[in-house]
Amino acid sequence: MTDCLFCKIVQRKLPARIVHEDEKALAFEDVNPQAPLHVLVIPKKHISTSLEAAPDDNELIGHLLRIAAGIARERGFAERGFRLVMNTNPEAGQTVYHIHLHLLGGRKMHWPPG
Ligand code: AMP
Ligand code: ZN
Repeated sequence: MTDCLFCKIVQRKLPARIVHEDEKALAFEDVNPQAPLHVLVIPKKHISTSLEAAPDDNELIGHLLRIAAGIARERGFAERGFRLVMNTNPEAGQTVYHIHLHLLGGRKMHWPPG
């Protein structure tokens, strides 16, 4: 998608601090971190929201989750814990309409979330 911020990061038309890349996915540091660890994991393929994920995307979505968990483990957050979040649509706070898994860690997380 030409006017999508995260597609532009995938295409290297915008800079990002990339921490993982493979054929299907990209992970990069959030530009406005909400915790000491705040990484976004995205599919290279454009999917606007979780509502647009199709059965064919099942493996891809699982892949994103495993990348996030792997980064958390590598950075030493496995035992103490971390949070994975995917906001969907305005009331949840989605601002970029290309699905992304937030990986947050390094501080005590509150529940219920704000
Ligand atoms: P959401 O509000 O769930 O859609 O999350 C969007 C996230 O993208 C926010 O946490 C932003 O800080 C982050 N973000 C926006 N633009 C960029 C960018 N150019 N590079 C990295 N993260 C970004
Ligand atoms: Zn996109």
